[in-house]
Amino acid sequence: MKTALFPGSFDPITEGHVEIIERGLAIFDKIVVAIGINANKKYMFSLEDRMAMLTRTFEKEPRIEVAFYQSLTVDFAKERNISFILRGLRAPSDLEYEQPIAYVNQHLNPAIEVVCLLSKPETAHISSTVVREIIRYQGNLQKLVPQPVIEYILQKNLVF
Ligand code: ADP
Repeated sequence: MKTALFPGSFDPITEGHVEIIERGLAIFDKIVVAIGINANKKYMFSLEDRMAMLTRTFEKEPRIEVAFYQSLTVDFAKERNISFILRGLRAPSDLEYEQPIAYVNQHLNPAIEVVCLLSKPETAHISSTVVREIIRYQGNLQKLVPQPVIEYILQKNLVF
């Protein structure tokens, strides 16, 4: 079975992430969407909230598992017996960011292959950063984040 790891902060998950993950399911049998905990990063949403939003987004997709880890991404992949890391590229700036990370990961574990998919033009403008800005000012999140994320924020009355 071919499994890929889709690592990220998912602060929060966006339609951009979902689009890459859904296309990834045409290549891989299973995708583990995992939140990498970085102690130096400040997040808008708690780990619990980010996990809940991931779980709700993918609850109807049996080939997607959600998880979190606090270790090197390659170590988590190895621990789970995963040989592919899936990433999305929106623009050349994403490649500039991803390439050195991919090289370091391949240095640390040459058995792991990094697979990057180009985002569709329809979602290339979406980032968690922009979404957080819209949330702060209570703007319209339709088509930027999955519906379960909108419902979760409203339901939990999360205010920032
Ligand atoms: P990180 O903190 O690792 O950047 P993110 O949650 O922001 O985590 O992103 C995880 C992955 O999703 C990265 O590969 C990123 O480039 C990709 N990604 C984010 N937004 C989009 C989008 N709109 N289209 C395609 N890929 C995206």
